[in-house]
Amino acid sequence: MAEKTKEKRTGNTSDNSKYSMDTHLIYGKNVSDKWDYSHHVTAPISSSTTFRLDSVERGAQGFMQFANTELLGDSAPIFIYDRLGEPNKDMLEENLAYVEKGEMAVSFSSGMGSISGVLGILTKTGDEIITHKTLYGCTFSLLKNWYPRYNIKWTPIDLTDMNNLQNSITEKTKVIYFETPANPNMEIIDIKAVRNVVDQFNENRNEQNQIYIVIDNTFATPFCQRPIEYGSDFVVHSLTKGIGGFGTDMGGAVIGRRKFQDMLQLFRKDFGAVLSPKNAWSILTYGLPSLAVRQRHQIKTATKVAEFLNSHSKVDFVNYPGLADFKYYEIAKKQMIDFNGDFAPGSMIYFALKGRNPVEAREIGKKFMDHVADKAYTMTLAVSLGHTRTLIEHPASMTHSIVPPEELEIRGIDAGGIRLAIGLENPDDILFDLNESLKII
Ligand SMILES: *Cc1c(COP(=O)(O)O)cnc(C)c1O
Repeated sequence: MAEKTKEKRTGNTSDNSKYSMDTHLIYGKNVSDKWDYSHHVTAPISSSTTFRLDSVERGAQGFMQFANTELLGDSAPIFIYDRLGEPNKDMLEENLAYVEKGEMAVSFSSGMGSISGVLGILTKTGDEIITHKTLYGCTFSLLKNWYPRYNIKWTPIDLTDMNNLQNSITEKTKVIYFETPANPNMEIIDIKAVRNVVDQFNENRNEQNQIYIVIDNTFATPFCQRPIEYGSDFVVHSLTKGIGGFGTDMGGAVIGRRKFQDMLQLFRKDFGAVLSPKNAWSILTYGLPSLAVRQRHQIKTATKVAEFLNSHSKVDFVNYPGLADFKYYEIAKKQMIDFNGDFAPGSMIYFALKGRNPVEAREIGKKFMDHVADKAYTMTLAVSLGHTRTLIEHPASMTHSIVPPEELEIRGIDAGGIRLAIGLENPDDILFDLNESLKII
């Protein structure tokens, strides 16, 4: 019966596996078992906080099936209340799992919601979380300011060296968490190498005591990197950034193995960081189908911009995975690969201007960014990334301002470091604006 309905809806039961991921992101799983609509080309927006249940029996069945993957099987879910589940989120989740090569995805209201979600289900009081030393500011704040209140210990280390990981794992370690590339300094962590170390430790641990790897793939997007393919257990995303793509909607997601889906849904239900169906719809309708086109353009532009900055006399250094002289170029080439197997170094650049010391570099950077904010047409001084517009910001005083000044260096953040998130403009226009702004310092 279910098969027959699907046939009617798609009008096509042929094997789709020969098509590319670019095309799948447009057609993908846009027709879903999660929602029975037959003649819409674009999925409708669901805007109903609550759902009619027909009978008490059906209501009871809905509650029983909620967050019970085994019981639900392939049948269409009984929707009860938006915070538990509704069709737009379910459809987005199917597509996110698909593009990230995971078995399931659970969406959240923001990237931070998804990070709290996955860490929430993997840890309890007394456990320890190891992360890379450089992290997005709010993730840093979550681990430093909140988790100690629940007696969950945070150990930040330099994960670019596997010896550090070997030496830092204890009996209590439950999660290895990192971003690659890291926000903001673009350090690249070898996912397979982390997997190998974790496997050695997991071998002697029982099922309840396994260590899990969680990777924040926001900077790369699944176009440039699918960490699960290299051995990550979970991927988290801020959908607000490159996947959403237009800077209009916040969202987050956790992608991973089927066996964690129920717990993530229960966590989301009770902690409440639920993605709005309208946001889910935007990301499903605009973000994912345009991901490949946007990323390809942004990578081309980012490469040009990085090369320009790299050869400029006033620039101290440029961290971009696509530059052959970047410290982590070789690892980037191994794991940042697009759907067609080509090197995909992403749309994020981190650089600093020359100064005689960190204080001077910071002042020069500030002067430069203030000029950009005032005069440049193609660059906007703003946090966030993966936007249609190129965004520039100063991590030490903005996205990472939570890091105390005396800690910046050990956290891998330069006092004068500048983060550039490439948009969809004509690259020559960005180069023009950069050149003009570099003239005044
Ligand atoms: C923005 C960001 C987040 C947080 O996402 P929100 O959607 O703003 O909650 C997490 N990780 C990285 C790397 C980010 O850039």
